[in-house]
Order: sequence, then structure tokens, then C-alpha cells
Amino acid sequence: ADRAYTQKSLELSTRWAKRCREAHRKENQQLFGIVQGGTFEDLREESAKQIIDLDFPGYAIGGLSVGEEKSQMLDLAAHTAPLLPNDLPRYLMGVGTPNDLLQCAQMGIDLFDCVMPTRNARNGSLFTSEGKINIKNSKYKTEDLPLDPQCACNTCRNYSRAYLRHLFMADEILAMRLNSLHNIAFFQTWMSRLRRAIREDRPIDWSFPEDNGEETHGD
Ligand SMILES: [Zn+2]
Repeated sequence: ADRAYTQKSLELSTRWAKRCREAHRKENQQLFGIVQGGTFEDLREESAKQIIDLDFPGYAIGGLSVGEEKSQMLDLAAHTAPLLPNDLPRYLMGVGTPNDLLQCAQMGIDLFDCVMPTRNARNGSLFTSEGKINIKNSKYKTEDLPLDPQCACNTCRNYSRAYLRHLFMADEILAMRLNSLHNIAFFQTWMSRLRRAIREDRPIDWSFPEDNGEETHGD
């Protein structure tokens, strides 16, 4: 969207946020404000100012990870995160890959959400400590190993790669369940390692092996 349209939209979002703030009654829920402003740094600043004025208990960065270039998402997240209060949760909506999570956490983001673990799982694309695995690949046909020997999830403790491949190729719904359970476990372990490093004030000196030679057909 162009600048004028984005400006109008962010002002509309602020008016909605104000109405939500006033209507919100439930004491067992936290209502966060969401910063908009598209791909324009100055509009992100303007939106952040307007939303922070409404005094929410936490703030989200919205409108990113919706098809723009990865580098632009990272630049805008890095620009927007420090505009938000230091002592309140910051939530980056729709992000991301294991390495995005490491990078954005270091910008000061606390919360994330993404369909990637389950959507990839349903397509047979599995995250492991050695990188991504495409369970469709014929090399897994006879592999008796767990998906990720380092993973303690139910799928890895009970099923082999060969069996998971068989389920996937046969279009068995159990493939989607077992794959999803594993990918979610992988992301949970990934985040708990990250939280531990932050708590212990250690550098985040690891990353996810993006290029492990596995063909994943642009999942
Ligand atoms: Zn697992």
C-alpha cells in the first residue's frame, strides 16, 4: 500500500484500538495494542506513539510477515521494537523461522506466533537439530532412526523416519498429527533454550542450520 493509504489505515486502527480499550472488561485477559504503519518507518513511529498513548499492558507489532522481503521484516521489527515500553511484553505477530526467533528476541521481542510449525509439519517438512528434513525424500524409506535423535517428543520416542514417511506417503492423517507434535516440540525446546540463555545472560551463539542440503521445495 502507498503512504497515504497506510497513514489512513493506521489512524483507523488507532480508533479501533481506542474503542477496544474502552469496551474491554474481562479481568482474566490482557488486551494488547497493535502497532501498524506498514513498511514506513515514520508511520510505525506515529502508530507506536498513538497506541502507547492508549496505555495497554503489552504491545504487538502487526502487519509484518505478510509477504514482504525477509530483510524488510527484520529491519522494520528492529526499528519498531525499541519504540515500545521496555517493561512491558512486546509481541511480534506472525514470526517466524527458528533463526528469525533468535534474531528478533535479540531486538527485545518477547512473544511470537506462527503457523510454521504445524503448516510445515502437514507438508512433511520437519525441523530437527541437524536442519530441516523433508520426510517425502526416498532416502528415509528404510531409515530406522527417529526424526531427531536429540528430541524427546512422543513422535521421536516411538516412531522411525521410515514409518513416518510411510504414513505421509499413504496420506494417513496420523502423519500430520505426529509431524505436528514433533515440530511444536522442536519450537518449544528452541524457545526454552533461548529463554535460558537470556536468563543466564549468555550470548545466543547458535543458529538453525538452514542449508543442510535437504531439498524442501520452498515450503
Ligand atoms: Zn521429536
